[in-house]
Amino acid sequence: FQSAEKLAEFGRQHIARGISQSTNLVIQQAKGSYIYDVQGKKFLDFSSGIGVTSLGHCHPKVVKAVQEQAAKLNHGQVNIMFHKPMLDLIGKLKPVMPSTQFDSFFFWNSGSEAVEAAVKLARHATKKQNLIVFQGGFHGRTFGTMSLTTSKTIYRAGFGPLMPGVYVAPYPYCFTCPVHRAVPQKYDIINCCDNPIEQVELLLKQQTAPDETAAMIVEPVLGEGGYVVPPKSFFPKLREICTKNNILLICDEVQTGFGRTGKMFATEHFGVMPDIMVMAKGIASGFPLSGIVSNKKLMDTQPAGSMGGTYSGNAVSCAAAIATLEVFEEERILENVNNRSSQLFSLLNSRIKPLLPPHIGLDIRGLGLMVGLEFTGVPRGFVTAVSREAFETHDMIILTTGIYETLRLIPPLTVTEDEINGGVEKLSNAVEVVLK
Ligand code: PMP
Repeated sequence: FQSAEKLAEFGRQHIARGISQSTNLVIQQAKGSYIYDVQGKKFLDFSSGIGVTSLGHCHPKVVKAVQEQAAKLNHGQVNIMFHKPMLDLIGKLKPVMPSTQFDSFFFWNSGSEAVEAAVKLARHATKKQNLIVFQGGFHGRTFGTMSLTTSKTIYRAGFGPLMPGVYVAPYPYCFTCPVHRAVPQKYDIINCCDNPIEQVELLLKQQTAPDETAAMIVEPVLGEGGYVVPPKSFFPKLREICTKNNILLICDEVQTGFGRTGKMFATEHFGVMPDIMVMAKGIASGFPLSGIVSNKKLMDTQPAGSMGGTYSGNAVSCAAAIATLEVFEEERILENVNNRSSQLFSLLNSRIKPLLPPHIGLDIRGLGLMVGLEFTGVPRGFVTAVSREAFETHDMIILTTGIYETLRLIPPLTVTEDEINGGVEKLSNAVEVVLK
């Protein structure tokens, strides 16, 4: 038997430092909202593997589907043949798509690969090259997606030159927006100052002409960039600009999709349909699966043979995704997300806010169970210290996000009322200790 410390040391010795872990936890098992380390110690998991294990760890129905599929067919190479689990999955996905126009799919393994597939499709279909991305966006770490990612310099510094033709527009981050801050009584999450939209229009006039711009790629709620919810008017206006200029709108729903925000897809909150939607993470409860969807006419502008990949749309992952979607219905997951979300927001307001002295500000924001807490007036490293305290003293996993002092809560979508109560209790204890 090796101690957790010894195993972690072995990991540090032999696993690339470039990955880096925010804890030294060595886990061996997980169930529902809890993970267990090699010594059997239990931790409340409000990270869900960054929004992946949305049904809780090892949901019995998903486990069973995976076991059965693994005994039947593991790999069906998509460039050689169709496989049944993929076809069945499409049958399950179609009814939950935000539009009946989304009827053509391409599956990959990771979010980054799917974002790259969306970019390839957009460029090929429009015969244009340039891309507009949004400040603070995260789209992955591969060469192409790293060039689209602007949430932190660590993802790109030293790896250039990056993919050319990428233009960055501001994301509507009202909490830090100078216009919004100057007259907070005039602008709010519903009535945006429209500065970000004006900046997109300027980009199209001054830097990347509409007839050179293939697509805009945007997260419906900023994930790695700070859990930022855009004002209501942002997406409809973006949609309008895209349609008017024959630019494709790509929504990266990798983190927001599959119920995380209380609707199946976050764009549904804004009443806007993208041309291409990117999916991953929560789709298959931890098994590697991602994909893009669009209408068939657009998808089929790419010639046969230009898409594919050895593992794309793996059969076992597809079976996990089918089971995941069945559980969504059977256990009314969206209903739970919305109930637990109201509980969480109200508890955060009543338990965390009163702990703070007047000079510390707190913005509690998010949709569904994608919740950010941005503190102002705290020393740098404050939220990292809170996250560490929650882990070391209260056996709870909480992540941070963005470049400011923001905690993010991403519990499983199956989280119970008691677990939300317990989680906020642990978090408030951690905040109290760090404030001292
Ligand atoms: N897009 C978004 C919005 C993401 O949050 C992530 C992962 N955090 C990715 C893309 C990249 O996904 P992957 O790590 O699976 O490549």
